[in-house]
Amino acid sequence: MDKNGLPFSQEDAFRVIQKIEGLTVSQNVPLSEMTRFQVGGPADLLVWADNRENLTELVQLVRREGWPLTILGGCSNVLVADAGIRGVTCVLSSDMMCIRRDGQELTAFAGTRLDDLAAYAAKHGLSGLEFSCGIPGSIGGAVVMNAGAFGGTVEQVVIRTKYIDSAGQPRMLEGGDHRFGYRQSFFLEQRDAVITEVSLRLESLDRLSIYEQMAEYAWNRYQKQPLAESSAGSAFRRPEGNYAGALISEVGMKGYTRGRAGVSDLHAGFIINHGGASASEIAQVFLDVRKAVFQKTGIRLIPEVRFIGTWEEDDIQSLI
Ligand SMILES: Cc1cc2nc3c(=O)[nH]c(=O)nc-3n(C[C@H](O)[C@H](O)[C@H](O)COP(=O)(O)OP(=O)(O)OC[C@H]3O[C@@H](n4cnc5c(N)ncnc54)[C@H](O)[C@@H]3O)c2cc1C
Repeated sequence: MDKNGLPFSQEDAFRVIQKIEGLTVSQNVPLSEMTRFQVGGPADLLVWADNRENLTELVQLVRREGWPLTILGGCSNVLVADAGIRGVTCVLSSDMMCIRRDGQELTAFAGTRLDDLAAYAAKHGLSGLEFSCGIPGSIGGAVVMNAGAFGGTVEQVVIRTKYIDSAGQPRMLEGGDHRFGYRQSFFLEQRDAVITEVSLRLESLDRLSIYEQMAEYAWNRYQKQPLAESSAGSAFRRPEGNYAGALISEVGMKGYTRGRAGVSDLHAGFIINHGGASASEIAQVFLDVRKAVFQKTGIRLIPEVRFIGTWEEDDIQSLI
C-alpha cells in the first residue's frame, strides 16, 4: 500500500515497468506540458507506449498487480487535476509505422494521431476521415469520445476495436457492439477497458476531392475556433435541441473571465486557459458557466471534457 492507501508501491512499479522492452517510464512527471489545457499536476509514474505489443504487456502487468491505471491519448479532451494522478499513467505516443492498409481498410495502433491517420488515408485516396481534420488527439481517444465534426463521426468509419478488459484479457468489439451515440461509446461506460488497436473502413475517392474537403474544414475551424488558445475543444456536450455555445452566449457568459481562465470571446463553447491558470481555476469556470446557464434557462450543461486525476474540491466532483 502507498501513502494514499492504494495497492501500489511507486518504487517497485517503476523497477518492474522499466524492464519491459520498448517502454519509457519516469517518476513524478508534471502533466501540464502534455495537456492541451496546459495544466495538471504530477503523474506518480508516467509510461509512454508506442505500439500495441508494449501497451498490452504494460496493461496486463498493471491488471495482475492491481495498480491504479489511467490511459491518456493526445490529452486534448481532459482536464487533469492540480494534485495529479496517482498510480500508473500511460500515454500512448504516435507511431506512423503502426498504420496498416488492406484495400479500403486501415488498422492503427490506438495512439496514432487522428490527423496522421486522416493524412495517410487522403494520400491513399481513401475518404471518410475528412471530418476529423483539425480534431487533435489519438484514434483511441476519438473512439472513446466518438469524436465528430461537420456531420462526420468516428462511428461512421470504425469497424473493429481491440482492447484489454479490466481483467487484463484481450478482447474485440465489432460494429454495433461499440454502442456509439453522441460523444458516447462502450468505452465511456467501461472505464477500465484500454483500446490497443482500431480498424476503419473507408471509401475510395480521388485525392484532390479529399484534400479540398479537408482544406474547407480546416479553414472553417480557423475562422470560428480559438485555435491559438489552450483549451480542450467544446467544454460541454450539446444539450438536446440546442448548442452549448449558443446558450452560453445567450446568458452573457461569452468572454467571461475568472482569474487566468475564462470563456473564449470567439467561440463561447470553448473554455480556455489564458496562461498560467490552475486546473482548479479552469474547473471553477466550468461551474460558473453551468450555474449561469441553469439559472437563466433551466438547462443543466454536462461537461464533454473528462476530469482526470485526484480532485478534492466537493463542487468539482459534480462535474466528473
Ligand atoms: C482545439 C480543439 C478542437 C477540438 N475539436 C473537436 C471536434 O471537432 N470534435 C470532437 O469530437 N472533439 C474535439 N476536440 C476534443 C478532442 O480532440 C477529442 O475528444 C479527441 O478525440 C480526444 O482524443 P485524445 O487522444 O486527445 O484523448 P484524451 O484527451 O487523451 O482522452 C480522452 C478520454 O479517452 C480516454 N482514452 C484515451 N485513449 C484511450 C485508450 N487508448 N483506451 C482507453 N481510453 C482512452 C482517456 O482516459 C479520457 O477519458 C477538440 C479539442 C481541441 C483542443
